[in-house]
Amino acid sequence: MKYRYIPAVGQAIRLATFEAYTASFIHPWSWLRILSAQEHLVRVELLDGDQSTGQTFLISPEIVQPPIGWREIYEIRAAPDKVQQVLSWLQGGIVVRQWQYMGDPSVTFQPADNCEQPHWKFCEITDIVPPEQTDDRIRVIQTEYMYDAFIPAVCSYCRGTGKRSASDGTGYAGPDMACWRCKNGQAALYISGLRGKERKAAIAQLQADGWTGGYERRGRAHWWAERETVIKEAKLAMEESNG
Ligand SMILES: [Zn+2]
Repeated sequence: MKYRYIPAVGQAIRLATFEAYTASFIHPWSWLRILSAQEHLVRVELLDGDQSTGQTFLISPEIVQPPIGWREIYEIRAAPDKVQQVLSWLQGGIVVRQWQYMGDPSVTFQPADNCEQPHWKFCEITDIVPPEQTDDRIRVIQTEYMYDAFIPAVCSYCRGTGKRSASDGTGYAGPDMACWRCKNGQAALYISGLRGKERKAAIAQLQADGWTGGYERRGRAHWWAERETVIKEAKLAMEESNG
């Protein structure tokens, strides 16, 4: 592990293990408040409930229990229209907030330079990834989801031109206009509208393009698909996987 949790001044923390307490001569599982935090040394005060006791200890930050949800590497997932925005946050650092309900490890991410409280449930800042660490510690994943999975196809009405005119040879007799069946000649072939070999071929094409999915019977039956693409890998993960 290259990075570890550096507790923030004022935070109430516990130590990671029973042994960490006994070795520091602190009553096991007591809560402690951070009085000062440096990279290699943290001064803590013993708490009685949430009250000060005046008893202070010097400990190594290595034995502080990181908050639930703390990670050396974080994954930020974003829809295609939000990916560029997330990438633009990295140079200013990332604030990580945790939903504190037990058993729910969900976290939310914000740019450190614009860190307003986003939602009541994500009240606690559990980590701040400084700008110089985002390259190592942040992975950005683009997530895509199709409720009704389709493959792109050339529009059969306008033959991919995106326009209709009386001279297009399709039997259309109206005035020149944009094709009303497609967008710029690109149409969608929905899996649910295909059968047999055509459906198999369309599913194979989706899989080749990195999509996974399936058939959902509940509600209105549909073929769904999802895809995750790593837009930016966490450099630390690459170093670790390279040994
Ligand atoms: Zn068309």
